[in-house]
Amino acid sequence: MSLTPDLIARFSALVPAGQALSDTADQAAYLTEWRDRWTGKAALVLRPGSTEDVAAIVRLAAETRTALVPQGGNTGLVGGQIPDTSGDQIVVSLTRMSRIRAVDAPGQSITVEAGVTLKAVQDAADDAGLLFPLSLAAEGSATIGGNLSTNAGGTAVLAYGNARDLALGLEVVLPNGDIWNGLRTLRKDNTGYDLKNLFIGAEGTLGLITAASLKLFPKPVAKATIFAATPSARAALAALSQLRALAPGTVTTFELMPRFGVDLVLATAPHARDPLSQSSPWYVLAEISTQSAHGFTAAVEHALAAILETGNLTDAVLASSGAQAAAFWHLREAMSEAQKSVGGSIKHDIAVPVAAVPDFLDAALPTVAALVPGCRPCPFGHLGDGNLHFNISEPDGADTAVFLARRADLNAVVFDLVAKFGGSISAEHGIGIDKRAILPSVKSPVELGLMRQVKAMLDPSGIMNPGKLL
Ligand code: FAD
Repeated sequence: MSLTPDLIARFSALVPAGQALSDTADQAAYLTEWRDRWTGKAALVLRPGSTEDVAAIVRLAAETRTALVPQGGNTGLVGGQIPDTSGDQIVVSLTRMSRIRAVDAPGQSITVEAGVTLKAVQDAADDAGLLFPLSLAAEGSATIGGNLSTNAGGTAVLAYGNARDLALGLEVVLPNGDIWNGLRTLRKDNTGYDLKNLFIGAEGTLGLITAASLKLFPKPVAKATIFAATPSARAALAALSQLRALAPGTVTTFELMPRFGVDLVLATAPHARDPLSQSSPWYVLAEISTQSAHGFTAAVEHALAAILETGNLTDAVLASSGAQAAAFWHLREAMSEAQKSVGGSIKHDIAVPVAAVPDFLDAALPTVAALVPGCRPCPFGHLGDGNLHFNISEPDGADTAVFLARRADLNAVVFDLVAKFGGSISAEHGIGIDKRAILPSVKSPVELGLMRQVKAMLDPSGIMNPGKLL
């Protein structure tokens, strides 16, 4: 049912002047996602500035059964934040809700509104002499509301967990417009169901997160950033165990990259430079953090030398400055973007048990090569927590449309192998529109039934992000 002009006017009146966007040009940035895979239409884009504004919008939506699509930084990679093409949905963008409400340094917590960017939370923590460890390449735009709604992972999951592990409390506007103030900063609270975990990872289908209390950590006093060559994923995994055993401090990052991906970044990213003189089939980017700087660098060098002797790493360079560390990170973070330079790519954000990553790659690489001869796999990502971006670029010179038409075939073989190794088809990006059709084949009827019951109980009219996840 289309929204009447009267209803559009009623919704528009719930936000300050200028914050209800109805013009197609004004709406454009909210209707297409980062990889241009999904474009929608919206009756309105509303930009509330407070929890009360959000509650008023949701109350009217509940009364009129109007579908709402929550949106943060619009960096999600599965289309969850994009409205459908009916033109009847309303996008609720939280980016104006960008206040840091409180920093509790002794209690090591921070309370922020949902539209604060991840980078701004990191900076606020840093200003207080603390660390907010969630980190991902889109952190300049991605918001805390989006991070929690997708249970984002990123590069430090190995040591600190994902967004869910970092949340202490939430404020949520429920699908009937009620505000649930669960903004607790308690470390211990065994008073029944842990409701915040319903909304974390729910992709906006159960309510709108308007604020969150998050854990902060002591800031490491020193960090070692290592770029190393390794002959295989199996050797890289062995090197991770060795690094954990031999190096001082905590291994906070352990990323795997193939030569193909590094080559793409070197060819496309401004100022990218190969840190090592010899080419290698695989690389790792590792970071070790410590609370005690004394003798740290020497001890890391010692550990690296021992690992190099075993052949699990074949060459390694320890960043000697912040700029050099940033240059190493640039090679990793530009990898997804660099794939655009070689045409279409079909991406899988999968996880398998950490120890199974080498076997998964041994099985998956020949399987996709047999299915689409000449395709160029670029598996990279968070080896330390078993999450790989198993991305596949089109064959050199291929017709992009023809290659992308193989998406379902490639998905089928990759997801079959993921299941065989006891993994997940979505390690960190979520389900959104992208994997909605696949979900029933990877969840048991009991699990899916429970998810549907929770959805029906909280959102009986189905107004919260319909068509996503379930
Ligand atoms: P959006 O894209 O706006 O929304 C994502 C989902 O959350 C949608 O379903 C939306 O409806 C819902 N949502 C948003 N805000 C709210 C809210 N306040 N209340 C309720 N629902 C809401 N992700 C990772 O996990 N790890 C990575 O390493 C990683 N790297 C990335 C690198 C790049 C270059 C890019 C472009 C993306 C990457 N992502 C990664 C994906 C993305 O950044 C994360 O999913 C991020 O958490 C999304 O935040 P956002 O604010 O942009 O959310």
